[in-house]
Amino acid sequence: MTWLLLLTLLGISLVCAFYGTSLLTWTIAMAAGIVVLGATNAIPLLSLVVIGALFAAVALVVNVRPWRQQLISAPFLKQFRRMLPEISETEQVALDAGTVGWEGELFAGKPDWKILKKQPYLALTVEEQAFLDGPVEKLCLTLKSWEITHIDADLNPETWAFLKENRFFGMIIPKEYGGLGFSALAHRAVLQKISSVCAVTASTVAVPNSLGPGELLLHYGTEEQKKHYLPRLARGEEIPCFGLTGPTAGSDATSIPDYGIVCKQKVDGKEVLGLRLNFDKRYITLAPVATLIGIAFRMYDPDGLLGDKEDLGISLALVPRETEGLEVGRRHMPVNLPFQNGPVRGKDLFVPLDSLIGGVEMAGQGWRMLVECLSVGRAISLPSTSTGGTKMAALATGAYARIRKQFNMPIGRFEGIESALARIAANAYATSALSRMTATAVDLGEKPAVPSAIAKYHATEMARETVRDAMDVHGGKGVILGPRNYLGRGWQGVPVSITVEGANIMTRNLMIFGQGAIRCHPYVLKEMQAARIDDAGKRIDTFDNLLFSHVGYSVRNAVRSLVLGLSFGRFATVPHDRKTAKYYKILSRYSAALSFVSDISMLTLGGKLKQKEHISARLGDVLSNLYICSAMLKRYESEGRPAADQAILAWAFHRAIYNSQVALRKVIDNFPNRYMRFMLRFVVFPFGRREKAPGDRLTHKVAQLLMVPSDTRNRLTHGVFTNPAAGHAVCTMEEALPKVIHAEPLERKLLKALKHGEIEGITWEEQLKDALAKSIVSKEEAEILSEVRELVMEIIAVDDFDSEDLKAGRRPKAQLDTQHAA
Ligand SMILES: Cc1cc2nc3c(=O)[nH]c(=O)nc-3n(C[C@H](O)[C@H](O)[C@H](O)COP(=O)(O)OP(=O)(O)OC[C@H]3O[C@@H](n4cnc5c(N)ncnc54)[C@H](O)[C@@H]3O)c2cc1C
Repeated sequence: MTWLLLLTLLGISLVCAFYGTSLLTWTIAMAAGIVVLGATNAIPLLSLVVIGALFAAVALVVNVRPWRQQLISAPFLKQFRRMLPEISETEQVALDAGTVGWEGELFAGKPDWKILKKQPYLALTVEEQAFLDGPVEKLCLTLKSWEITHIDADLNPETWAFLKENRFFGMIIPKEYGGLGFSALAHRAVLQKISSVCAVTASTVAVPNSLGPGELLLHYGTEEQKKHYLPRLARGEEIPCFGLTGPTAGSDATSIPDYGIVCKQKVDGKEVLGLRLNFDKRYITLAPVATLIGIAFRMYDPDGLLGDKEDLGISLALVPRETEGLEVGRRHMPVNLPFQNGPVRGKDLFVPLDSLIGGVEMAGQGWRMLVECLSVGRAISLPSTSTGGTKMAALATGAYARIRKQFNMPIGRFEGIESALARIAANAYATSALSRMTATAVDLGEKPAVPSAIAKYHATEMARETVRDAMDVHGGKGVILGPRNYLGRGWQGVPVSITVEGANIMTRNLMIFGQGAIRCHPYVLKEMQAARIDDAGKRIDTFDNLLFSHVGYSVRNAVRSLVLGLSFGRFATVPHDRKTAKYYKILSRYSAALSFVSDISMLTLGGKLKQKEHISARLGDVLSNLYICSAMLKRYESEGRPAADQAILAWAFHRAIYNSQVALRKVIDNFPNRYMRFMLRFVVFPFGRREKAPGDRLTHKVAQLLMVPSDTRNRLTHGVFTNPAAGHAVCTMEEALPKVIHAEPLERKLLKALKHGEIEGITWEEQLKDALAKSIVSKEEAEILSEVRELVMEIIAVDDFDSEDLKAGRRPKAQLDTQHAA
């Protein structure tokens, strides 16, 4: 009977922990349990007294605040202050910039699915849709990627003019300043469509609408700066670029050596207070054609002309192209995607103080300004262009896998190709849902710091996987470059998106979880702030409150993780949809597990977690996969739960969860403390690893969906350019696909007759002619077969060139001189 009492108390504690009740509720429930069982007289008196006394002691300590502060919180606070990670000023700025949205729910271990459900699924306005159907469609009709990438190494003058006239560079600039004032969703849709045709044009449009002079002026510019520059930027009269990166400062952008000294200089006979700038920037997109160059530099005032602070910190200034001392115009060549990109240098270049973005008041605030704006641009530019590229690859590869036949079969029927097709379809589904969710967050007024890092990393990685698979499926057709090739430039250019806006390895290892954990955690940041409070009384009061809430939170997550692991998510509160409830349950389980493992990692590793990139990257993978799965479920619900799309959702979901399981398991298996390793394994994986990667049958189903025109396929690739009038290879193929499918039974009939020796002939044309003569196919059928044959030959064709035409141009002069000297 003593065991009965102990089990009852354990059960009460587990239930309280699972639902995260308050300490008082737990105390009352436990006391009630002891009283009720004690009243039955079934429990031996001695046991009752011992257990009751122990409980009373614990209950008193944890409920009587002065006691618990003295006995528990104060010693813990002492230890905590010792372990507290150093947070630099720049890290603090990064942590303060940005809001926490749905990712906070996932991180906290008990996602409230009603919040996700309530999030609106926004639509484009009539005006935005008209822009997509009008100017964007018109632009796509004229773009010739091969000419841009191989012949001109630039957009042609007509395209530049068209972009400026139609204010493509002013999508984020409000109408009052002459811009288009588009929503983030519309901005996403425009980039998505352009990138499905030409990555160079998409990059050219993306940059002025992302982090740079336009956005910085919008948020921090003085009224005068806004009035002067924003209308000019919107009309394309000014082409902006922004220079942060230099030869020694890449990922570690705060280490820029570029500097500006506050000084006086005579301009037109008048003494002007300004800055003497020295900088050396590289990789700057649009720099070679830019007229307005944003520069980040460290500002110094050694002569105290502005005040008594000598090192004012990172500041941002706008430098007009004609400024004396500015060296700009030469170009880099980013992996055969020749969008305008190059170095910018300044030697003792003078600009007046009002060139500072935001004026003198914003001197030294440059890093904060950049970090605050970064999340918005990062949530849109690369996720949208990657989505456009991925969807285009899905459309093209699905069609090509059906049209291209080897061994008398469409290659898409081979299981090896099916695997690639399923991955492509899942990536198109996931990446689109992900980029839509982050763009929506921006439209809802968030600064989605963590989701934008998730979207940047995963959308570009999915694009990389997709283009690799698409290239494999296309074989030689993908490899041979020329106007007919629609994949090669994507394959070459994908590392650009991996590198820019936070290189991917760093984004995964340092940013997603590294910043996400502190930012999304409901207590850690607050505890760190509390530990730094100067007033000792206030410090312990605040810390004590937080600590006990934190302990309750950790216990809740441990219990939820174990119970949901043991019950396969059965007790999680999830939406009641027959098809998807199981997905929500799995997500709830992994959310609790992520929370618990994160807490244990932070508790045991403290500040060292920053250096433990293996742990932080893998926990980041789990958070990312949970976020992507939520985005996919949101998409599925909002699109009216289309039954035909279920297979793609299932494939993408199971892959993401399988990957989360692998990541969590790797964290646990490599956890530095072996006792913790054992405990974590028990709590998180009580039955071992149960998640499975998508099965072969599902893979087959998904692959087939990509090869036949259908509503599902249309939804999957919605938003890419498919107008056949453009004569683009993918659009032509899309038009041919139904005809090819329609002709397949006739082809089989012809093949069968050939196998049985009923028709003769060496060439295909001779065989068809004989089949027609022997009435094996009718005249009408023969015409269909001929037409399809012609279409297929056109689709599988590749380009060839005169040797002279392949010469890209003259060698740089310096190289010629060296050769001549030799
Ligand atoms: C085509 C192109 C366009 C660009 N446009 C602009 C622009 O318009 N304006 C501008 O200012 N900059 C621009 N950049 C610069 C871009 O943002 C940087 O290239 C990027 O920040 C990385 O710097 P890096 O290339 O020097 O690489 P490095 O910083 O040398 O990084 C090399 C590798 O180390 C990894 N790494 C670095 N630190 C860590 C860490 N702590 N943990 C784990 N891994 C780490 C990185 O992920 C990367 O894989 C552009 C770059 C390119 C290539």
